[in-house]
Amino acid sequence: MPVLDPFGGKPAARHRTREVRIGRVRVGSDAPIVVQSMTNTDTADHIATAIQIAQLARAGSEIVRITVNNEESAAAVPKIREQLLKMNVDVPLVGDFHYNGHRLLTAYPECAEVLDKYRINPGNVGSGQKRDPQFAAIIELACKYDKPVRIGVNWGSLDQSVLARIMDENASRAEPMDAQAVMREALVTSALESAAKAEEFGMAGNRIILSAKVSSVQDLIAVYRMLAARCDYPLHLGLTEAGMGSKGIVASTAALGVLLQEGIGDTIRVSLTPEPGGARTQEVIVAQEILQSMGLRAFTPMVTACPGCGRTTSTFFQELAQSVQGYVRDKMPEWKTQYDGVENLTLAVMGCVVNGPGESKHANIGISLPGTGETPAAPVFEDGEKTVTLRGDNIAQEFIGLIDAYVARKYTRKTV
Ligand code: SF4
Repeated sequence: MPVLDPFGGKPAARHRTREVRIGRVRVGSDAPIVVQSMTNTDTADHIATAIQIAQLARAGSEIVRITVNNEESAAAVPKIREQLLKMNVDVPLVGDFHYNGHRLLTAYPECAEVLDKYRINPGNVGSGQKRDPQFAAIIELACKYDKPVRIGVNWGSLDQSVLARIMDENASRAEPMDAQAVMREALVTSALESAAKAEEFGMAGNRIILSAKVSSVQDLIAVYRMLAARCDYPLHLGLTEAGMGSKGIVASTAALGVLLQEGIGDTIRVSLTPEPGGARTQEVIVAQEILQSMGLRAFTPMVTACPGCGRTTSTFFQELAQSVQGYVRDKMPEWKTQYDGVENLTLAVMGCVVNGPGESKHANIGISLPGTGETPAAPVFEDGEKTVTLRGDNIAQEFIGLIDAYVARKYTRKTV
């Protein structure tokens, strides 16, 4: 019996959303799925924050969010923008506001002006009778400064009044939903009702992005499917508190992969906990690799490498795969200003004759290293044809030289 593939081997058409502009970046509609990230510096330290924003932007983050949690942070935001201009970094900045956003945006108009978007969490905007006026105040400020907003609900700070209401409604149903379904419904309701309220307070519908972040993969998939079915606001995807190392990468990839395959998601963030001393930019690289592996966007040449096995007795091929991936990633900032389409380059570094020549022929440029007992020679293939055989101690440098020559020969030079 044939296996049915509902997607025909490619992602489904994008869920239809409105287009929202964040500075110069388009989000939603037919815009490319945007990669974003968030700093973890103290925003009040404007130099450290500007340096990290520059690192994230140079790694490929197309939007960067910073927390604006107190007066010192709000006062630092214009200085951060100034510092970024001196560093020649032009990236949209999003202010993340909780509890006191209405006060900070009012007291620090320069901060309100230089940010490109405000992120509001309806669960943390104020409680009881203060909630609506404080939410309205932020929306009015966003309208005044002509800024879009992200209404970002979060599992950990869900608006308790919405949850209580959904629970009451559920209790009176003939067939009540289970607790997990109630929580999912409350998250979606909180996001949608807050967006409707923002529109009532004067915000245009094409200035709103929604997110509803949770930390469980299945909940995230369910919640975003519900949002996509019930609105046409652009959706910001991300598994919150994804965790550290491989756990965070795998959980984020599992959740985002399913949704992106279904055409859901207009902008993504991978919320990784950096290992002590680890680079914050890892979250940007993982987000790019998710999109590129799925064929949704191309950012940097990808290296296909075999996992190695008993046929490879040295670590040479692992080191070569690592140095080739590192080399092309380091070269990309320069290459992308010089060559059109170079991000689509494919490379292969293979460990022996079993799959080496075959896989290398599928890449634009590939090398098949000798396995144990094989002749110490490494054939190189360019666009499916064997071009040269490398030998000796300089294989790595020579292969990198061949990559440079291939790029210069095959990609059209950009006109400045
Ligand atoms: S290509 Fe060769 S070395 Fe690499 S995994 Fe396959 S058999 Fe092992």
